[in-house]
Amino acid sequence: MSAVILLGPPGAGKGTQAVRIGERLSIPVISTGEIFRSNMAEGTEIGKQAKSYMDRGEFVPDSVTNAMVKARLSAPDATQGFLLDGYPRNVEQARVLADFCEELGTHIGVVLEIQVDEDEVVARMLKRAEEQHRADDSEPVMRHRLEVYREQTEPVASFYADLDLLETVDGSGSIDEVSERIFTVLDARLGR
Ligand code: ADP
Repeated sequence: MSAVILLGPPGAGKGTQAVRIGERLSIPVISTGEIFRSNMAEGTEIGKQAKSYMDRGEFVPDSVTNAMVKARLSAPDATQGFLLDGYPRNVEQARVLADFCEELGTHIGVVLEIQVDEDEVVARMLKRAEEQHRADDSEPVMRHRLEVYREQTEPVASFYADLDLLETVDGSGSIDEVSERIFTVLDARLGR
């Protein structure tokens, strides 16, 4: 098994689809946003470092994020492959990840980019804000996260397209419809 990477703007439904992909491929889902949130809830040093950035919709500095991901990828459950949700988010992280994979003796099998238009994404995030009360789901912070996505993370998609690893998936429609599209791509790329 290899590594699978999930890209897509905030609100694209990555978290939901990540769980389904992880189950289907029997690999752990590693979500940097989730790891940061649980560190914040537990009041750890990483949580304290991440909080002010997350609340503003900025990226946590690469030094913190990369070290955290490296530690997680070294855990025993990740030796048979893993799914990354929320990482890499900029080209520098993508380069660092390539080095980690080499050290671990694994490779990236496919990068899935979930595409959803911006109005839809904002509508979904506003709904999530009502349901989950996340500090970074206010409208100005959301708009800022989308901007950061365009500037920093879209180049990551191009980075993987150049390596012929990128597959884009239409993220509109129901959760099941999107999963079906993703599974079709995974079957074609990874074989079943
Ligand atoms: P969403 O999918 O809605 O963008 P996430 O839960 O993935 O939300 O991320 C929430 C926040 O966590 C980001 O806005 C950022 O502050 C921080 N974060 C998550 N992953 C990374 C990363 N790879 N690099 C830097 N910051 C990150």
